[in-house]
Amino acid sequence: MLQRVNPGNKSLADYRSIIRRELYDEVVELGKRLDGARVLHVSATSFGGGVAEILYTLVPLMRDVGIETEWDIMFGAEAFFNVTKGFHNALQGADYDFTVEGKAIYEEYNRQSAAALVESGEEWDVVLVHDPQPALLKHFADGYAPETKWIWRCHIDTSTPNRQVLDYLLPHITDYDAQIYTMAEYTPPDVSLPGLTLIPPAIDPLSPKNMALSADDSRYIVSQFGVDPERPFLTQVSRFDPWKDPLGVIDVYRAVKEEVPEIQLVLIGSMAHDDPEGWDYWNRTVNYADGDKDIFLFSNLTNVGAIEVNAFQSIADVVIQKSIREGFGLVVAEALWKARPMVASRVGGIPMQVAAGGGILVDTIPEAAEACIKLLKDDEFARSIGRRGKEHVRENFLMPRQLRDNLALYAKLIG
Ligand code: UDP
Repeated sequence: MLQRVNPGNKSLADYRSIIRRELYDEVVELGKRLDGARVLHVSATSFGGGVAEILYTLVPLMRDVGIETEWDIMFGAEAFFNVTKGFHNALQGADYDFTVEGKAIYEEYNRQSAAALVESGEEWDVVLVHDPQPALLKHFADGYAPETKWIWRCHIDTSTPNRQVLDYLLPHITDYDAQIYTMAEYTPPDVSLPGLTLIPPAIDPLSPKNMALSADDSRYIVSQFGVDPERPFLTQVSRFDPWKDPLGVIDVYRAVKEEVPEIQLVLIGSMAHDDPEGWDYWNRTVNYADGDKDIFLFSNLTNVGAIEVNAFQSIADVVIQKSIREGFGLVVAEALWKARPMVASRVGGIPMQVAAGGGILVDTIPEAAEACIKLLKDDEFARSIGRRGKEHVRENFLMPRQLRDNLALYAKLIG
């Protein structure tokens, strides 16, 4: 009921010239202190979404600095993921019908995964459990390896939760030796988490999505998709989902077009064949675009993968993130890292990324349109914003920093 993922190899030394020397040394030092420690990550899936994106870099780098690290995913049926999707939304405040049957399914898959962990005979110094799906692993592995330290990593905003689901999970969450959140504001209200540790996520500057791509190569890729690289374009890369507000982005584009008629808009979103909500929202966005030849909608299913996302982000004149609600928004750090001027909503984890003058925070569609127009008309202003955004990401949101914060927590727990 647990499946091992092979995330490949990475070397910390490759990041040496990108990050500050002190950070590099700190990571190496922590690696030496923890040499030979055994850490297991458990998450729900190895494909799609921010958690998988992070683990594909964090796990190989942990290994590279001397920690014996593995990553297992839960082997669950559709019924289980339906329940946990409901939990996920409920913890972010949505209504949820918490049934006896749903609880039984959730507990059964957690019980089976815990049994698999115990039966594997492997012992870990730290087991790091990601998000609500495997949150009961510790509970059902009761009595297993008493020395093991357990960490629960919450990637979502649980500050306005559905109380029923939270009250059910809370005794289990507080039972972990530590709880990692992205921001203090995301922790549940009126609850004291004994081992609360704040660690924001980070991006991999050397992955195909974020590695340096020349302007010429980017222009070539963009032109292959029918977008005119000689004319300015706005882009948003996000799932087709009401919280990412692609329709609002089209409104922003329309307001910009009144002032800058040659503007184009590129909306990119990853889609799954079995995600009817995603398709419904894709169709709504297509209808809203109303046949406008300067609006382009792309997805992984039309061959827009990591390199193509990289190309569009690398040469967009303005990158928009018009989210209504956002956990962290890795895609914001990805665009800032490419030194693009960013216009983004003041929600969730976005303001901590769009800080220090690297980007423009907005609250409304007219404000977003005005910011885009200003950036399109003033090259020097756009360049300086882009540069500052990139430096802010270099200091705060590249993977070696997240690696350092994780290692420091393990060192605190296992001495
Ligand atoms: N992403 C992608 N292709 C797409 C849309 C999104 O590769 O068409 C990636 C994006 O680059 C980012 C991740 O999916 O790495 C989304 O993470 P984020 O935290 O921004 O949002 P989430 O989808 O987790 O709410």
